[in-house]
Amino acid sequence: MPGLVHCKRCLLPETYETIEFDEHGICNICRGREFRNEKIDWAGRKRQLDALIEEHRGKHDYDCIVPFSGGKDSTFTLWYLVSTYKLKPLVVQFDHGFMRDRLKENNTRTLKKLGVDVLSFTPNWRVVKRLMLEALRRKGDFCWHCHTGIFSYPMHVALRYQVPLVLWGEPSAEYTQYYDYKDDQIEEVDETRFNRFINLGITAEDMRGMISHDFEADPRDLAPYTYPPVRELKRLRYRSVCLGSFIPWDTKKQYGIIQKELGWQGDEVEGMPWSEWPYEKIECYMQGMRDYIKYLKRGYGRVSQMVAMDLRNERIAPEKGRRLVEEFEGMKPHSLQIFLDYVGLTEAEFNEIVARTAVAPHKPDFAIARWAPKPWDFDRWHREGAREEAPRARPKIKAVAGKAEK
Ligand SMILES: [Zn+2]
Repeated sequence: MPGLVHCKRCLLPETYETIEFDEHGICNICRGREFRNEKIDWAGRKRQLDALIEEHRGKHDYDCIVPFSGGKDSTFTLWYLVSTYKLKPLVVQFDHGFMRDRLKENNTRTLKKLGVDVLSFTPNWRVVKRLMLEALRRKGDFCWHCHTGIFSYPMHVALRYQVPLVLWGEPSAEYTQYYDYKDDQIEEVDETRFNRFINLGITAEDMRGMISHDFEADPRDLAPYTYPPVRELKRLRYRSVCLGSFIPWDTKKQYGIIQKELGWQGDEVEGMPWSEWPYEKIECYMQGMRDYIKYLKRGYGRVSQMVAMDLRNERIAPEKGRRLVEEFEGMKPHSLQIFLDYVGLTEAEFNEIVARTAVAPHKPDFAIARWAPKPWDFDRWHREGAREEAPRARPKIKAVAGKAEK
């Protein structure tokens, strides 16, 4: 985006979350990466992981809980723990409501091949729609239900099953600086972290109050988004940490591994160059919308983030990175209309909300004429709206032999 200051190495702009630049014009995330590659004692970290795992092995109904979306990171995490350590995990999946067909096929293949027990939870869709609208209005981020559900639900399961060890995948220091590799500490995926940036500063209780004027929610409807009581987790002597704090995370390499070992397949994501990063964010068909909002609010999207990652890893030439951003970023996704129908907004109302939550000094430009191509499964994504709510004729059911049709 012209007019914004960018990191000289990864090209991320000043509107990126948590970014700061040093006197050389290099950002703190790039500096964190240097530290990660050069200074962290990864052999020592691996020994810490070995010890953590041996401390829990065989002591409970499961050795650990693995929160699992089926995206590249959680799939690699699960594969790594089962194949390297021969663990017996309980796989816990929070279904945000937008899982795509290819992801589901990947999941079936992965979970069958690895031979694991799985718990899947899907929250009330009527509540989810209302939460999306409120989070969009307040923060310009409709994914509150997903952020909070993904990080709190597995903790409830840990308590219910009395399994103290929860192993996540990618540490947040990979992409932001809420946690810094330079602290050389293990990032605890706990309530502090949850309140620091996961829940956008809105607790489930706040949220219930915010929607109460027009939505009658049972207090229990918000339970899946509430972090469980810390004293109960402490009594369980829980540990909730990321595999990527113990082994250096490398998404591209890990994608190659899960492809080979599990037949994991990438997918087309709205607004992305499909051949370039087919493994990124395939788990949600609202991803194109999420990136579109980010682009409007902050002046960059997922293409910039992927280019930044590859630049830091010296896997892409800067000219090619710039060209990809120019060519692909900031296109309008066709999922926009699907989303507007979910939350009951017109595009003008949507634009007005996004304009209010834009991050200075960026100013959104809504006059985008280019549309992102539709991914192959676009027509299969859930739709709703007036058209579908009209009463439909019931299909005739054939009479069972011997009984007359009424
Ligand atoms: Zn940078």
